[in-house]
Amino acid sequence: MNKLIIATKNEGKVREFREMFSKYGIEVKSLLDFDEPMDDIEETGTTFTENATIKAEAISKLLNTPVLADDSGLKVDALDGEPGVYSARYAGLEKNDEKNLQKVLDNLKGVPREERTARFVCAAAVARPGEETFVKIGTCEGSIAEEPQGEHGFGYDPVFVPKGASRTLAEHTSDEKNAISHRHHAIIQLEEWLKNA
Ligand code: IMP
Repeated sequence: MNKLIIATKNEGKVREFREMFSKYGIEVKSLLDFDEPMDDIEETGTTFTENATIKAEAISKLLNTPVLADDSGLKVDALDGEPGVYSARYAGLEKNDEKNLQKVLDNLKGVPREERTARFVCAAAVARPGEETFVKIGTCEGSIAEEPQGEHGFGYDPVFVPKGASRTLAEHTSDEKNAISHRHHAIIQLEEWLKNA
């Protein structure tokens, strides 16, 4: 395989997938690369696995080709797993990264450092015409900082400090993030499929 379609319009995700798949010699195309704008697939599931499967299968059916979809988000222990599958729209329907992370910080006001544990989760679903969909899960453990720091990455990266690190993910280079991220941990489980596809 030398080309893979990723069912997302999230530029941050596309950039990271492109970087990570380049080492396998695979060119990544996303839903941003099509001339006709594609409608958003409604994420009606209640888990990352369900939503990744819905997106991968819908686009694979539409294009009649193998498709990878990622559904991902942040789970904060002190917030009972919120924002979870609602990570993209935590602070409202318009998908605003800054408002989303501010809402997490507001909800964690007064929560001490040792209770601010959290993890990023990525469900990566591969759907293929006529074959069963499979899903791999990757996680990245860490905690939520007191305030945003750093300019790299996207989403909640400025408030997420990976376990064992003293900087937020937004203070990591893209290579550093790609070596430890939830997306990385999901994708390395696809290597067997990538080799044979
Ligand atoms: P999805 O497009 O429904 O999977 O939503 C993913 C949302 O989770 C993004 O919009 C971000 O808010 C958050 N998210 C997922 N992965 C990351 C990451 O690597 N860094 C920061 N935020 C992330």
